[in-house]
Amino acid sequence: MGEPSDDMDNSPIMTQYRRIKSAHPDALLFFQLGDFYELFYEDAQHAARLLDLTLTSRGTPSGVRIPMCGVPKHASETYLARLLKRGESVAICDQLEESQPGKGPVARKVTRVLTPGTLVEDAFIEQGGESGLLALWRPRDRFGLSYLSLAAGDFRLTEVETREELLAEIVRLSPSEILIAKDSGLAALLPPGISLQELDELDFDPLSAQRVLIEHFDVDSLSGFGCDGLGLGVAAAGAVLKYAERRIGQRAPHVNGIRVSRRQDRIHMDASTRRALEIDLRPDGSRAPTLFSIMDATRTAMGARRLREWLCAPSQVLEEVLGRQAAVSEILHSHIDNAISSPLSECGDSERIVSRLALRSVSPRDLVKLRRSLSLLPDIRAPLEATACPKLLDVASKCPDYEAEIALLGRALVDQPPALLRDGGYLADGYDAELDRLRGVQRNAQDFLSQLEADERLRTGNPGLKVGYNRVHGYYIEISRTSRTPVPDNYIPRQTLKNAQRYTLAELKDFESEALSSESRALALEATLYQALLKTLQASLPALKETASAIADLDALQSLAQRSREFGFCAPVFVTKRGLHYKGGWHPVVAEHSTTPFIRNDLRLDDEASLLIITGPNMGGKSTYMRQTALIALLAYAGSWVPAEEATIGPIDAIFTRIGASDDLTQGRSTFMTEMSETANLLHNASSESLVLIDEIGRGTSTYDGLALAFAIARHLASETRSLCLFATHYFELTALDESPGICNVHLSAAEHAEEIVFLYRVEPGPASRSYGIEVARRAGVPNSLLDNARMELNKLESRFVQSERHEPNLFDAPNSRVDSRAQVVFDRLSGLDADDLTPREAQTLLYELIATARDHK
Ligand code: ATP
Repeated sequence: MGEPSDDMDNSPIMTQYRRIKSAHPDALLFFQLGDFYELFYEDAQHAARLLDLTLTSRGTPSGVRIPMCGVPKHASETYLARLLKRGESVAICDQLEESQPGKGPVARKVTRVLTPGTLVEDAFIEQGGESGLLALWRPRDRFGLSYLSLAAGDFRLTEVETREELLAEIVRLSPSEILIAKDSGLAALLPPGISLQELDELDFDPLSAQRVLIEHFDVDSLSGFGCDGLGLGVAAAGAVLKYAERRIGQRAPHVNGIRVSRRQDRIHMDASTRRALEIDLRPDGSRAPTLFSIMDATRTAMGARRLREWLCAPSQVLEEVLGRQAAVSEILHSHIDNAISSPLSECGDSERIVSRLALRSVSPRDLVKLRRSLSLLPDIRAPLEATACPKLLDVASKCPDYEAEIALLGRALVDQPPALLRDGGYLADGYDAELDRLRGVQRNAQDFLSQLEADERLRTGNPGLKVGYNRVHGYYIEISRTSRTPVPDNYIPRQTLKNAQRYTLAELKDFESEALSSESRALALEATLYQALLKTLQASLPALKETASAIADLDALQSLAQRSREFGFCAPVFVTKRGLHYKGGWHPVVAEHSTTPFIRNDLRLDDEASLLIITGPNMGGKSTYMRQTALIALLAYAGSWVPAEEATIGPIDAIFTRIGASDDLTQGRSTFMTEMSETANLLHNASSESLVLIDEIGRGTSTYDGLALAFAIARHLASETRSLCLFATHYFELTALDESPGICNVHLSAAEHAEEIVFLYRVEPGPASRSYGIEVARRAGVPNSLLDNARMELNKLESRFVQSERHEPNLFDAPNSRVDSRAQVVFDRLSGLDADDLTPREAQTLLYELIATARDHK
């Protein structure tokens, strides 16, 4: 904002404003003026637009008006939440003292900088959502990533090589804010719509980042966290932690470790795969129905977050998967979910409360909730201890009694604390003797005033005399002007009203200073005692954090168990040999939301048949069959039971899909280019243990180019990559590939009944015979006249083409359809004629017509 100029208000307040704003150029400055937060200059114009506020102005001595808008302090949360949701950062500048006339501007300070990725307050984080910060660093050809959620105390780092992998991580972590170095060129690679902060390149300096982390964790090296050799990830982690602590203005003690996520720990799924499988988000951006929405029977927000994490990033570590599955089976058989459902529901979001406790922004209401959840731990623990399941016993062992903490919180807090710390009254009576004494003065005040009123009425003989209080004049004795009784000499006049006169007394003045000072002293003491209480509780932070995390695990497990039981899932069997077999499998989301019965199907993918060419009518169920296969694999590796009557699953390192596509205009890529980029990615990265789903390939280009590519891609997947692959296509030519090793045909069956197509949705061996595209178009409401025309064209095309063995047109046999179609017309005309029957004139006319026909078709 620079030096004051003529159009600036150089009053002390605005000078103070400009000084503070210059330290926070990237945030909207909420500047407290009494009961309002005001914004000025560009901040005001921007916020007024975003919040739909009236833009007013403040005059300067030179007559120029400064744009200004404001929100009431007591209602500021709603406005702040809206700004944060739109990716804005806000610096809150509070008044540190009451204003006093003639004393110049009161002291003000930025008490908190709120950014979308550093939130810990429930009011600002969407229900079931997360406020997370992701730092990216790419000095060379790899990316270092580090994710930090202050609200959950979750801190991780990793490194990836390609933009696809980077995007997959971004989709999986869905950060609210991304940090990159200025001029790093990374902004161009990122998806739009995420709040982006550009930091100085020095913030990513690997050595200082390492120092920041070593000091924060108070360790000698980062080796214990498995960070060796991950210099780029460490640089990002240092940057993210430093940024977060700068924003919250303090250390984050609950962030007491960092996890290294390695690609081989989780089943790899890129961004488009996650979208295509509709795990927790549908392509239209809605959140239901998705796999997560139907599997979610969690009782706490932290449990829901854990479940989402498991489904979005299933584990590849078999020991971990088997541990979860055993726990799910135990809960399901012993109905432990019923036993723990009610105490679990009361646990609330302890994970967030513990984070707020670490940052000392926890409210008394939060602590009352924490006490309640700690006191319920024995009820949760008991049914777990009755099992022999290692995972459940581990959860139980992380839920100790916390007797001391429960007793301390019970003693310290009232049962129903007020919402705002400012008003006091949250610490219980009996917790601190001095606080009790100061409160006693206030409580006795009413008795004192009633007694004074009675005494003075008696002394003056005036039954209408009243003792009262107002904020400006303090305590007073009020006597009506109509009263005839004399006013005693020791009454000191204080205020004259229309109908009454107000007085004070020396005795009343003494009382007033004692009462008022005891009130502010009580409030100050209460605040100090509260901070001391938080400090005492912070000693239990590591244990509390571990407990909250164990409860989140338990909640996610019981949710999987409950839904597996309700939906009739089966426990999958894991084998070491690659392959995927199931019987009676179904798509859990489609089946749940379908009004008609879902037809279950079997699948066998292994060394003998590693690539299935799936043909069948449009709308016949091909995509559904492919997606259900991926969801069965995904649920199994999340630790859940799966939607099948039986299932055997070998190792799976990644799931790739090439399903549907749209233009990626932000990256300047057409539909076909997007399709081919995804294909290239999967061809480069899929292994023999990857599950690959291809739903139509090569449709966005010319028929021959597309078909040729589809052939080559299918062959490559079967013989080079050797992935477990489902390949759905309407190119019937591809069904000829079943002669190659490892490739088999299956089709989705349909029947024709009274000229209508009936979908049977049964997967059967062998290729399909038709696509029934025109019938499906009719069902979709395409006009009949148009369909008649399409049928005619189809008949023409089919009669022209050489029929394949399977009575399907083989496009490769038609060298040029336009020439062929002209030839066909000429052929049709000529074949019905006998040249001997034509007069020379008729022959000449016919010749003209045929020439015209040929030219028309050019
Ligand atoms: P297209 O070739 O046109 O893309 P498709 O063969 O991939 O079609 P799907 O999208 O899988 O067809 O299925 C179409 C609809 O059929 C689904 O939305 C679902 O409602 C229903 N459906 C699919 N499979 C089954 C099944 N096994 N049982 C019952 N209904 C099913």
